[in-house]
Amino acid sequence: MLTRLKKFDYLKPPTLGEALEILERYDGQVKVLAGGTDLFVGMKEKEISPKYVLDIKGTGELNYITYDSREGLKIGALTSIRTVEISSLIKEHFPFLSSAAGALGSLQVRNKATMGGNLCNAAPSAETAPALLCLDARVKIVSLRGERVILLKDFFQGPGMTTLEREILVEIQIPPLKRKGIYIKHSPRRAMDIAVVGAAVAVNEDSEGRWHEVRIALGAVAPVPLRAQRAERVLEGKRVDMQLIKEAARLAQKEASPISDVRASAEYRREMVQVLVQRALQSIAGCEFVELEEDV
Ligand SMILES: Cc1cc2nc3c(=O)[nH]c(=O)nc-3n(C[C@H](O)[C@H](O)[C@H](O)COP(=O)(O)OP(=O)(O)OC[C@H]3O[C@@H](n4cnc5c(N)ncnc54)[C@H](O)[C@@H]3O)c2cc1C
Repeated sequence: MLTRLKKFDYLKPPTLGEALEILERYDGQVKVLAGGTDLFVGMKEKEISPKYVLDIKGTGELNYITYDSREGLKIGALTSIRTVEISSLIKEHFPFLSSAAGALGSLQVRNKATMGGNLCNAAPSAETAPALLCLDARVKIVSLRGERVILLKDFFQGPGMTTLEREILVEIQIPPLKRKGIYIKHSPRRAMDIAVVGAAVAVNEDSEGRWHEVRIALGAVAPVPLRAQRAERVLEGKRVDMQLIKEAARLAQKEASPISDVRASAEYRREMVQVLVQRALQSIAGCEFVELEEDV
């Protein structure tokens, strides 16, 4: 059966300033449209039925990737996930962000879906969020009232909820860090599914093999994508070994608060946090992969 979308007015202003005016004018009745891969699904399922759909692609301003050694990486909110996946700048400086982008949906979805949309949709499983959290990413947000830049970890408020208020996320900023990192997505049913658990790990290793600025971030196991900070602290400043890695993975599991849903039970997700974090840490430490007792 053909599902009809509820009637809405489609607005496509030519500038960001006009888009912001529309957001103020129709407060509460308007939804921003980027790639539409989440928004239109939500409208079809009748989870949301905005009176106005505000397409920001007409502004032509937010599709770019730049890097400089002082400012770091900047990604415009309308940059597609596919562009991030294949960007040579991102592959060179933050290759695990490319892999996270490449793990999202199918090629068709990645061509449409945007970085800003992935974050603003605020799904706990948002594919790019764990890698960005590991990179201490910030987001630049604008409104008619001005602009603010906040840490990504403070942007998410709950499933589908962010700090945005009549605002548009315009840019993702990543400081120029030297980090080794990895993102592992677990979705047992099909490669194209959203993550049942996602785990990203990044570290800065000194010349003596000690780990600094350790970051462990998890997706799909809490109301928001989150950092496992107790686990990070166990490894900070240390030369890691298997015992420390196992301890950190166990702590990360404790920091997760997953729910059961159609895709996996809370218990399964909790198990998988430990498995994925251990694998990610081992991979960065260059330890051999051993079959984990807890593996499922
Ligand atoms: C078949 C399929 C498979 C998918 N697989 C995955 C997957 O594996 N992993 C994953 O994480 N996601 C997946 N998704 C979800 C979706 O593709 C991503 O979340 C995508 O990045 C959303 O981006 P978009 O540009 O399409 O957002 P849109 O649908 O345009 O917008 C999403 C939300 O963010 C708001 N928004 C968008 N941009 C901005 C902005 N700049 N400022 C303020 N608000 C904004 C919109 O109002 C809306 O509420 C999948 C979707 C489909 C249909």
